[in-house]
Amino acid sequence: MDTAVKEVVGHYIGGQTVSGSSGRFGDVYNPATGDVARTVALASADEVRRAIDNAAEALVGWAEVPPARRVQVLYRYRELLIQNMDELARLLSSEHGKTVEDAKGSITRGLEVVEFACGIPQLLKGEFSEGVAGGVDSWSMRQPLGVVAGITPFNFPAMVPMWMFPVAIACGNTFILKPSERNPSCAAYMARLMTEAGLPDGVLNVVNGDKEAVDTLLTDPTVQGVSFVGSTNVGEYIYRTGCAHGKRVQALCGAKNHMVVMPDADMGQVVDAIMGAAYGSAGERCMAISVVVAVGDDTADRMMEQLVPRIETLKVGAYDQDGVEMGPVITPDARDRIKGYIDRGVEEGADLVVDGRDISISGYEAGCFVGATVFDRVTSKMDIYRDEIFGPVLSVVRVDNYEEALNLVNDHEYGNGTAIFTRDGDTARDFGHRARIGMVGVNVPIPVPLAFHSFGGWKRSLFGDHYMHGPEGVRFYTRMKTLTSRWPSGIKEGAVFNFKAGGEH
Ligand code: NAD
Repeated sequence: MDTAVKEVVGHYIGGQTVSGSSGRFGDVYNPATGDVARTVALASADEVRRAIDNAAEALVGWAEVPPARRVQVLYRYRELLIQNMDELARLLSSEHGKTVEDAKGSITRGLEVVEFACGIPQLLKGEFSEGVAGGVDSWSMRQPLGVVAGITPFNFPAMVPMWMFPVAIACGNTFILKPSERNPSCAAYMARLMTEAGLPDGVLNVVNGDKEAVDTLLTDPTVQGVSFVGSTNVGEYIYRTGCAHGKRVQALCGAKNHMVVMPDADMGQVVDAIMGAAYGSAGERCMAISVVVAVGDDTADRMMEQLVPRIETLKVGAYDQDGVEMGPVITPDARDRIKGYIDRGVEEGADLVVDGRDISISGYEAGCFVGATVFDRVTSKMDIYRDEIFGPVLSVVRVDNYEEALNLVNDHEYGNGTAIFTRDGDTARDFGHRARIGMVGVNVPIPVPLAFHSFGGWKRSLFGDHYMHGPEGVRFYTRMKTLTSRWPSGIKEGAVFNFKAGGEH
């Protein structure tokens, strides 16, 4: 038994690291070894309220800081993030398991949102109409929501929080982040950097925890908005509960992203794209390709011929081993759940072409590894097709024609991302137009929008009206107000009892 004293990750409230006082803790694994590396304090409702109180107190000053001054903190945070990129990436990899290069890539994607947020004063400009009636002017402005919260998943412990807090803070809100309890250390690290960058205490707080912490954020009347990223069942609960308590909620949820391969696609490009998009980050990405829809048996056969040897030789290992292309999954439970899905696919009659269940990595025998797996001849009735497995398990579905492929994409309950690989412009354009999916790629397997666009899905991949970051992020974190004024104040028109046409105020 491992009796070494484990580091405990606490909370970050009011600009201070605070240890948890609930007496409840969660395990944080090193996914490569399968060992519990540290523990995390799980906040009580009282501890979360303390964070909310701090955020409410800080709001009074922060909302009044001119936008151009607020973003000075983000400029400095950006520099600190770049300086500390290597350390943050290693911390991320040690708790998540993804390779350090992949971790850096994801932090860079978060950094791009910080850069977008530095320009937010431009998007907070209101609209003004002079002289809408005699002596009357009208202008609309965007004001911060107030205290807002972010609840984030394990798979992007730096990037997803950065989809939220830089935008919220630049818009004049104060923020409480509740990161995944499975890898909590990046959130605390980033909050400390924000303090170092000059953010006033209480503007960004981090509480670690589970359902108790989340429920407190969802029901406390001070919290005005909740951003969530995670699985669909939890997201739907968060959306319904938050809305029932009068909050604005955006909940970005699960996915099953299809990549359609047309007979005319460049097969070398297709196979490279599948390898990165299905197995990068061990398939633990909401934009991972988990289904390939091959149009025609000949297309499927040509694709499998090139794909299978690539899957069989994929280099799997610990995040810090040289040349590793794919790391472990997040916890022993996740590993067992994913292997259970591979068992299920075999029972359901899919053709298991490469089986990742028996992988063993020398020196890391107890690690949370699942080898890259591919099933061929999967059908839309199977659980392995319908469910989000969130691991390195790819399903290949064979269809006869393009319409059948498009129907599969559109009939699936999720609608996060999709892609088509083709050299035919007509087909590509038709797919872009008719796919009922939030983010569509043409010869781009993971069409993640850049920070100045907005990220989000359709159907059961998103609850709420707003996407994240970009212009939609600014809309989410601000409320519109329209002010109508008459000058000079002495104009008299007598009491008016009837509505008048516009312009006749
Ligand atoms: P998860 O739903 O288990 O957890 C997400 C957050 O919700 C965590 O902070 C967790 O503590 C909290 N939570 C979990 N159970 C809860 C409950 N019963 N009540 C209240 N709060 C609860 O998700 P995960 O496993 O950490 O992340 C993987 C999921 O996230 C996948 O489904 C993936 O597709 C999704 N995801 C979606 C996007 C997107 O943009 N659509 C991006 C990344 C991840």
